[in-house]
Amino acid sequence: MSITSQLHAIKSALPEQVTLVAVSKTKPVSDLMEAYNAGQRIFGENKIQEMCDKYEQMPKDIQWHMIGHVQRNKVKYMAPFVSLIHGVDNFKLLKEINKQAKANNRTIPCLLQIKIAEETSKFGMTIDEAKAILQSEDFAALQHIKITGVMGMATFTDNTTQVENEFKTLKQAFSQLELLQPENAAFKTISMGMSGDYKLAITCGSTMIRVGSSIFGERNYNA
Ligand SMILES: *Cc1c(COP(=O)(O)O)cnc(C)c1O
Repeated sequence: MSITSQLHAIKSALPEQVTLVAVSKTKPVSDLMEAYNAGQRIFGENKIQEMCDKYEQMPKDIQWHMIGHVQRNKVKYMAPFVSLIHGVDNFKLLKEINKQAKANNRTIPCLLQIKIAEETSKFGMTIDEAKAILQSEDFAALQHIKITGVMGMATFTDNTTQVENEFKTLKQAFSQLELLQPENAAFKTISMGMSGDYKLAITCGSTMIRVGSSIFGERNYNA
């Protein structure tokens, strides 16, 4: 199936409240343009340099989401245009995003990445760490970021019960953090679900799914 037909097939089955981020990492601009011409306006990348290159080459009404692990020294390159940073997992990073947002006269929306997977390799903070950040005075001083929700990645496994439990944990984290109501937060987004598990994620309360290979086909990292 073409990118256009795969995109339409996924979108037409999505509940209204769920936003689709088309994950285009490693894919050429021509593939992204096919999705763009099919109506897609939100793209997710996991490397800052690659996202900046694509931003330069593509129409300016696209919303670019950074979904990968963020290196602090590269925040400045995406600060002028990024519309949502999914993978914020420490306060130092948040502080740097705030600094670069201020330099660009912007407020940058961010999601706190919560560790829900059992695998040790996955990034993210615990719910308690997230709570501590949201309740701290240092956080309240950050005027150029807005925490709009949480993001998580489930364990890569065929065990759907485990994946379901991890998604439910993220949904609970969202509900608990939402209650804290800090001024520079507006909780609305639960970013969870990828090609293999987004349907399950939606039944567990996802409001934003990040889908790559089911739209663009398998990725070849050696190309
Ligand atoms: C690559 C990636 C995705 C998309 O993965 P697919 O399985 O291709 O849909 C989603 N989220 C993150 C954080 C990713 O790095």
